[in-house]
Amino acid sequence: MRGGSSKKQLIIIGGGAAGFFLAANLTSKYWDTLILEQSKQPMQKVKISGGGRCNLTHACFEPRKLAKFYPRGAKELLSVFSRFQPADTFEWFENKGVALKIEEDNRVFPVSDSSQTVIDVLMREAEKNEVQARYETAVTDIKTENGKFCIKTKNEIYFSDSLVIATGSSPKMWTILEKLGHTIVPPVPSLFTFNCQNVLIQNLAGTSFPEAEISIPKLKIKQFGAVMITHWGLSGPAILKLSSLGARELHELNYSFTLRINWISEKFDRTVELLVEQKKNNAKKSLYSAKIPQVTNRFWQNLLQTAGIKEKLWAETGNADINKIADILTNTNLQISGKSAFKEEFVTAGGVDLKEIDFKTMQSKLVPNLYFAGEVLNIDAITGGFNFQACWSEAFIISRNL
Ligand SMILES: Cc1cc2nc3c(=O)[nH]c(=O)nc-3n(C[C@H](O)[C@H](O)[C@H](O)COP(=O)(O)OP(=O)(O)OC[C@H]3O[C@@H](n4cnc5c(N)ncnc54)[C@H](O)[C@@H]3O)c2cc1C
Repeated sequence: MRGGSSKKQLIIIGGGAAGFFLAANLTSKYWDTLILEQSKQPMQKVKISGGGRCNLTHACFEPRKLAKFYPRGAKELLSVFSRFQPADTFEWFENKGVALKIEEDNRVFPVSDSSQTVIDVLMREAEKNEVQARYETAVTDIKTENGKFCIKTKNEIYFSDSLVIATGSSPKMWTILEKLGHTIVPPVPSLFTFNCQNVLIQNLAGTSFPEAEISIPKLKIKQFGAVMITHWGLSGPAILKLSSLGARELHELNYSFTLRINWISEKFDRTVELLVEQKKNNAKKSLYSAKIPQVTNRFWQNLLQTAGIKEKLWAETGNADINKIADILTNTNLQISGKSAFKEEFVTAGGVDLKEIDFKTMQSKLVPNLYFAGEVLNIDAITGGFNFQACWSEAFIISRNL
């Protein structure tokens, strides 16, 4: 048990991104703060994030636009981002000596290209704020007693006036929170790639289509952007975004569904025109060797074979063949059977029901002085630095409220 201080006691459960950003922003004037972390070391996900470089935010400085990147939490985060958004993240880190850079796709990284820089600054600021941390200390139960929180670990019981849950996607913590009266939206994976075996994409790992249009007709969701063929199926920004948009429904379908792809984002009629033009300009050349510029050579070979079109001259290629090619280019239906983890970033959709949180303060509407930040909430985003941004913004708001 801790005690002996005239300040109020605050406990943060979880020494991850959200927990440490809060600790780095708390004033020691009012709070005697302790982080309880079950692992040996803090911020292990920050460490491996962004391929070890930590994509800590996204250069999107308009809260309304930014919120749209969150399939779950968009509405609630709007007010949160109006108070702490990527511009503030920039300022915060740069003021603390961490230079940041914006990459071409608007993802933001430390100039050092090392997540350790982010970990170091958060640890240093937390220390300045006199926040203590206990590692290898997993919380096993939480109760409320006489207006205080009674927090159990294997060997000790801690008491606090306020409590922040920043445990990420931890099923054990969700069970504890259910006992406190909170509703947990069942967790499902988000941000994954699609498994697919189809002759059209066979042996084409590494081939990419910078401007594809993809959709899942059954769910009426679509995306536009780069698609990449992998050894197992399909990946790339558009696929990841679609996986995030449909996370819950795709889980219900057991990841078995039809994906529709327009590989070149052209209308069927326009594609026929492009092919007719190709025929005119390459009449004497073989169909297999004179591909259209929009696709790679290997994809063109697979496409013609899939369409059952034999080698011939372009001049001999009739309308029926041209229509078949245009149909595959603009309207391929692929059967997806399963998903794979995306190595760079994966998150969980699900968590504490947002209806039970007051987003002005990040406080529970059910249990006074109980706060939440980070992936423990039913908030998640597509890849690109948005997940950390939600952690920073929520944690910052708690720090100001406290
Ligand atoms: C491989 C990978 C790469 C990623 N890359 C990026 C990226 O580049 N950009 C981005 O925006 N997002 C990225 N993400 C997502 C991002 O890491 C998470 O959204 C973010 O870490 C969530 O922060 P959090 O503080 O809520 O949870 P976490 O960072 O998971 O921290 C929760 C902490 O709580 C502790 N804990 C849990 N239960 C207990 C308990 N009962 N008692 C005590 N401690 C407990 C855990 O050990 C953990 O340290 C990536 C995720 C992965 C897996």
